[in-house]
Amino acid sequence: MARQMLRRIGLLHDQFFTGHGNFNLYLCKIGRRQESTCMYCNQEDDDAEHTFFACHKWALLRSNAGIDNMRPDEITDYMIQRPIQWKKISDYARSVLTQKDIDERLLGY
Ligand SMILES: [Zn+2]
Repeated sequence: MARQMLRRIGLLHDQFFTGHGNFNLYLCKIGRRQESTCMYCNQEDDDAEHTFFACHKWALLRSNAGIDNMRPDEITDYMIQRPIQWKKISDYARSVLTQKDIDERLLGY
């Protein structure tokens, strides 16, 4: 059970930091999606930076995580300052990616 949880946390962080995950721009690059636009706001490219730092869909979650005015290059320093900040970002990333998965299944992706 603990191993599965650690693996899941690792997958979330991989997607958060590398952008290799459920982002239409990445999925287009690897041939698994036709459109790179964001399904929530139709921005041209849905990548990790857009999803976690710009898309209006996640504004409330971003605000609750305390990163609504944070730039992507500041996030790592923020996370390693305090365990609670690490947890907030992890919870935020998990919530966003989980909801994206649910919405995509509902839309038939
Ligand atoms: Zn968007």
